[in-house]
Amino acid sequence: MNPLAIGNSRSRQQLRLNWPDGREQLLNHVELRRQCPCSQCRAFRLQGLTPLVDERVCVVELNSQGYGLQLIFSDGHERGIYPWAYLANLTPTTPDPL
Ligand SMILES: [Zn+2]
Repeated sequence: MNPLAIGNSRSRQQLRLNWPDGREQLLNHVELRRQCPCSQCRAFRLQGLTPLVDERVCVVELNSQGYGLQLIFSDGHERGIYPWAYLANLTPTTPDPL
């Protein structure tokens, strides 16, 4: 399942995905960086370690890769390609109370 629309806000540190079932998912950039699926970060998490992530990190570039989305972070990390199903299963950010 591919999202119908993708939105990225650097100022809000949020990635927005609109799925065909009508669900809108908001994902926090810091959380996305922590959950990076690249082999390096995966190995790190398997050791029970939490990668040190700057709370100000944000997604600076998105590259659609067909089966998922490559996210390029402001800290220079660009190895993670997030499959659509992986993104869909991440816990959404609680929307800001307005
Ligand atoms: Zn990574």
